[in-house]
Amino acid sequence: MKIGQDRIVTIGYQLTDEKGQVLDRSSEDAPLAYLHGRGNIIPGLERALEGHESGERVEVEVPPEEAYGAYDPELDLAVPLDAFPEEVRGQLEPGVRFQTQDPRQPGEERVFTVRELNDQQVHVTGNHPLAGVTLFFAIDVLEVREARPDELEHGHAH
Ligand code: ZN
Repeated sequence: MKIGQDRIVTIGYQLTDEKGQVLDRSSEDAPLAYLHGRGNIIPGLERALEGHESGERVEVEVPPEEAYGAYDPELDLAVPLDAFPEEVRGQLEPGVRFQTQDPRQPGEERVFTVRELNDQQVHVTGNHPLAGVTLFFAIDVLEVREARPDELEHGHAH
């Protein structure tokens, strides 16, 4: 069966950056299953897998625009510590993520990550860790099947 709209696709994957450094990979006993055509994986990868079938290996280079977006320096912000509610200040440390109003798109929420902080300011970024990175995927297509009604209703693989 070919990979296409509303099919459940199981893949093994390895993700590397331009320097060949491995950023992520699926483990042998836990491949990734997703519902195709619903935006559950990055657009460039979803498009590249279309039409392939189980047993195939697909290697694809995905530019940032079709992955996690270009790096936006305007999303690197220094926020006064006292802008955070008092009860969360003690929990702020590098790597902590929180969701808040998107400064670029009012009405939308965006995830920010704390980079560093001192007693006055918290440096945060709204960029995804892989923003601006060209991604190289090596995909093994393991299984392709029709989605069940409950999966179509939920919009993801079970
Ligand atoms: Zn579900």
